Amino acid sequence: MSTPIQHDFRSDTVTRPGPAMRAAMASAEVGDDVFRDDPTVTRLEETLAERFGKDAGVFLTSGTQSNLVALMAHCGRGDEFIVGQQAHAYKWEGGGAAVLGSIQPQPLNNQADGSLALQDIEEAIKPDDSHFARTRLLALENTIGGKVLSHEYMEAATALARRHGLATHLDGARVFNAATALGMPVATLARPFDTVSVCLSKGLGAPVGSVLVGSAPLIAKARRTRKMLGGGLRQVGILAAAGLYALEHHVARLADDHANAKALAEGLASFSQLKVTMPDTNIVFVEVDGAIAEDFSAHLAARGIGITSAYGAIKQRWVTHLDVDRAAVEDALDAAKSFFAGR
Ligand SMILES: *Cc1c(COP(=O)(O)O)cnc(C)c1O
Repeated sequence: MSTPIQHDFRSDTVTRPGPAMRAAMASAEVGDDVFRDDPTVTRLEETLAERFGKDAGVFLTSGTQSNLVALMAHCGRGDEFIVGQQAHAYKWEGGGAAVLGSIQPQPLNNQADGSLALQDIEEAIKPDDSHFARTRLLALENTIGGKVLSHEYMEAATALARRHGLATHLDGARVFNAATALGMPVATLARPFDTVSVCLSKGLGAPVGSVLVGSAPLIAKARRTRKMLGGGLRQVGILAAAGLYALEHHVARLADDHANAKALAEGLASFSQLKVTMPDTNIVFVEVDGAIAEDFSAHLAARGIGITSAYGAIKQRWVTHLDVDRAAVEDALDAAKSFFAGR
């Protein structure tokens, strides 16, 4: 029988709502949100819109649904969007834009820092010619793979998009992590984008939900698409209350996750068989010497340390969050130490 996970570094989606968040959910004032009667979800949408400096917001069941309704708000059948090969909205969402939106992706290689080269973007924008799909949108992601793209880069890339008449979307599933790392308000990061998708169920620790923010007409369109996709919910204030609780209590503490990730990375880097990428935020990537990778992975699992690994356990991903504190990091480093002792 496998050891139960005691310290779960697999993802920042594994957090469980604590008693105070559950109490907020239990006492939420609710109504039928398809009739726009739920005051709590309306408050969440308005709070996030204001925080991001946008006119309106719409609650969605997931980040995937949020990106999809955004893409469908910007692009019609036969249009295309420019996006990174590594972007969630391209690689990890089941081809939803193509399947459900008839929108063609134009993926570009991400550079090592996660950005798309401005020249690559410029060259990918198609001229108005009946041979081509209509290039309509530039979709960027911040953070991407835990890496933070600079505000200067975002300004330059979105300015380029606008010069060519493209709309802009930010997949900001972890935009609060980006804002924390940059020491900037999320409104500053959101300013160059027409729409921003924000996850409540990653580092913020809510059980469910994303919110898409943008102009009133775009969000009205997104709300319509959400209904078509089966995402119109009823007494959703129960979920929105968790999001509001998270915004109030779990944003400032993201800095702790970043500090814990750094401590974890520094500790792991002391073992010569591990090649550790120093984290910008809460995600640590480790490359393990192939000769010991499977054994190391099994050792961590036996010690109750949960991580994500791939390629024969050579590539590891460790994510810090609300439910793994500094003591969990120390336990994980102890487990690594006991493995490498004498090797
Ligand atoms: C997790 C994630 C999403 C999707 O969120 P789900 O709620 O899992 O659908 C979208 N974009 C990025 C960058 C993410 O990390």
